[in-house]
Amino acid sequence: MTSARTRQRMVERLREQGIQDEVVLAAMQAVPRHIFVDEALASRAYEDSPLPIGFGQTISQPWVVARMCELMRQGKNLGAVLEVGTGCGYQTAVLAQFCKEVYSVERIGALLAKARRNLLSLRASNVRLKHADGAARLPEDLQFEGIIVAAGSTLVPMALTEQLIDGGRLVLPLTLPRAQGGEQRLVVVEKTADDLHETVHEAVRFVPLLTGMA
Ligand code: SAH
Repeated sequence: MTSARTRQRMVERLREQGIQDEVVLAAMQAVPRHIFVDEALASRAYEDSPLPIGFGQTISQPWVVARMCELMRQGKNLGAVLEVGTGCGYQTAVLAQFCKEVYSVERIGALLAKARRNLLSLRASNVRLKHADGAARLPEDLQFEGIIVAAGSTLVPMALTEQLIDGGRLVLPLTLPRAQGGEQRLVVVEKTADDLHETVHEAVRFVPLLTGMA
């Protein structure tokens, strides 16, 4: 139930659901998702659904993880990326497969400790985890080629676009204004030298992006 063969079926399903980036699909094939959920839920780890990870949070469903990675990559190999909302660390591990360096922040300290244990067992050496509020500017002055936010908001956090390099891409779940349907959708914000360009993608459901630390 937790074998490479089960993962292969998950990847086939992702393909049927429209994921095309082979680099992302290979990363999803490589990372054992069952080690990121409680043992009692391990047999459901490869279903396409979010699962509880404690503290009122969830591990995102495989399609959402794959789609966000695909939207951030746009077929390009990436250097340093930031993930806001480490949760159990699953998406962090997926990103670590194809990004040179992954910096991931989580506001719930106990959850970050759990992610640290999970990632340690995978020996991901290009990952840096930090207990921090990712909606605010990071304490260090860092710039990223890509940023993925794993929690939903109504506004694009300026602190995040400021940490993108020119040509970088921020992928986040954004609740659109009522006039634009009021739905939560995946949005890509692409930064150029003098502009931020937004494109709106699929409807999604994420836990809220909160401020402060817990
Ligand atoms: N990336 C995870 C998804 C975790 S759910 C996965 O692989 O499945 C989203 C996470 O975002 C939660 O753990 C929540 O605590 C965290 N979060 C919410 N607001 C945040 C903030 N401002 N800064 C950092 N983390 C935040």
